Amino acid sequence: MVLGEEQQIDEDNKLEVMRHSAAHVMAEAVQSIFPEAKFGIGPAIENGFYYDFDLPRSLTPDDLPLIEAKMAEIIASNVPFVRDEATKEEARRLFAAQPYKLELIDEIPDEKVSLYRQGLFVDLCRGPHVSSTGEIGAFKLLSIAGAYWRGDEHRPMLQRIYGVAFDTKEALAEHLKKLDEAARRDHRKLGRELDLFSIHEEAGPGLVHWHPKGAVVRRVIEDFWKDEHIKRGYDIVYTPHIAKLDLWRTSGHWEFYRDYLYSPMEVEGQEYIIKPMNCLGHILIYKTRQHSYRELPLRYAELGTVYRYERSGVLHGLSRVRGFTQDDAHIFCRFEQLEDEVVGVLDLARFMIDTFGFSDYKVLLSTRPDKYAGTIEDWDKATETLSQAMIRLGVDYDIDPGEGVFYGPKIDIKFEGWQGPTIQVDFNLPQRFNVTYIGEDSQEHSVVMVHRTVLGSMERFLASLIEHYRGAFPVWLAPLQVKVIPVADRHLDYAYKLEAELKSEGVRVEVDARSETVNRKIRQAQLDKVPYMLVVGDREVTASTVSVRLRSREQLTSQSFDSFKEMLRTAITDRVKELGWQ
Ligand SMILES: [Zn+2]
Ligand SMILES: [Zn+2]
Repeated sequence: MVLGEEQQIDEDNKLEVMRHSAAHVMAEAVQSIFPEAKFGIGPAIENGFYYDFDLPRSLTPDDLPLIEAKMAEIIASNVPFVRDEATKEEARRLFAAQPYKLELIDEIPDEKVSLYRQGLFVDLCRGPHVSSTGEIGAFKLLSIAGAYWRGDEHRPMLQRIYGVAFDTKEALAEHLKKLDEAARRDHRKLGRELDLFSIHEEAGPGLVHWHPKGAVVRRVIEDFWKDEHIKRGYDIVYTPHIAKLDLWRTSGHWEFYRDYLYSPMEVEGQEYIIKPMNCLGHILIYKTRQHSYRELPLRYAELGTVYRYERSGVLHGLSRVRGFTQDDAHIFCRFEQLEDEVVGVLDLARFMIDTFGFSDYKVLLSTRPDKYAGTIEDWDKATETLSQAMIRLGVDYDIDPGEGVFYGPKIDIKFEGWQGPTIQVDFNLPQRFNVTYIGEDSQEHSVVMVHRTVLGSMERFLASLIEHYRGAFPVWLAPLQVKVIPVADRHLDYAYKLEAELKSEGVRVEVDARSETVNRKIRQAQLDKVPYMLVVGDREVTASTVSVRLRSREQLTSQSFDSFKEMLRTAITDRVKELGWQ
């Protein structure tokens, strides 16, 4: 522990006690508004607190200011928090009308329970609390959410109110500003505003529908991804979405990951499941014939859509879904080739990360867990090889001890909010499926299999990308790259001529032909975060020029159409990351 850390822990602790005290005050406020309220629990959490209530009606955001006002009153009256002890019998009488508290009392092993009282409100609580309500700092109630009692979907759904609390008004204001910023970047909000994707209750939660504009971004990324993989010696393959359950029994997925798999469906008396990963299809392709050591490494890549069960409570926009497309590949190689292959994947990963404009990542090497497949020698050799590959490229990494998957060690490149590339060595599947090659010695040897994704999944990656650029995609990714804005109807012909010429060069361009003012049209293009706006009026038509406006509101000097095209071409082919504005 370094000097000053103890003090920091004390500070954190004090804040936590204050936040938990604020939860009690909120409960008192709710009780004063809803005398028949039943109380769940109300802990401190990061930056704030919550409390779960069973109330006679659903809360709306309009209720929050009323509860806040009541809380402010209680805080201003500075009533003390008083600790009391009671036998369980006494506590049961006290909480006779509080079924959730009764349940908690039954679970306390001690004979006596502790109670905290402030004003008219008394709660079953271990404490500690601040000495009086006046010590509660600046707070704000943020939101209302449904929460099952004890997180169990078979128990009643309670209403949870979330709040934040800080020592000072300034600290609270700063935190709210950060939340506001994050909300403006939220990919779910931008996805709606920019018309990129949707998720439908009718189709099921966690299942993404890509709209034309979102699909453009995804397609451009996929094309780039495929081209880059082909350049680097990968073969693109396609495998089916369902396969016989027996295959997943052989692989061990049915045994180890059953909780994440969808129930089997019956086809002609055979059980099939929808695939949770792409690995097995690639193994089957590999095994259609014998391979000599001279053919290795083989690298099979697939943008493979998989489905995994996630509880509906944890689903979140594009970043936590039930169906997603992995940018997957499997490398089949000899052990001696493993280091070069890992170097190749790391190099590709770095190239992609850089191209998409990400930085600030952490690299982790996860080592052998307690439960593992394969021999310790294999694990040691593979772990050493992974670390050697990173040393060769000068990659700084940390060890994540015991966090490898049961089938082999792995490298993870992690970003804030984006899982990033992973590289996993696998000793298990090659053995289970007898995946081999014929060596120089004419004998059969087990291949080393590497699972790897660079972007992770298209869904999660797009979520990060949207938030990273706040929806203002670099021009090579933008759904619409150029908007042509005629000043009046008489400039339409010229506008369409520019559009046709740009289209023929593969540029994503549109004319805003609405009979709206130029300002309105510019505003719309700005809201749609279109990188370039070409405003054309009398002067431009006569001189065959364009007046270029950027979404940063920057106005470039009027220029010839050819010079604009040249600039645009460079921005697209060089994959220029931004136009000075997000
Ligand atoms: Zn408490
Ligand atoms: Zn795999």
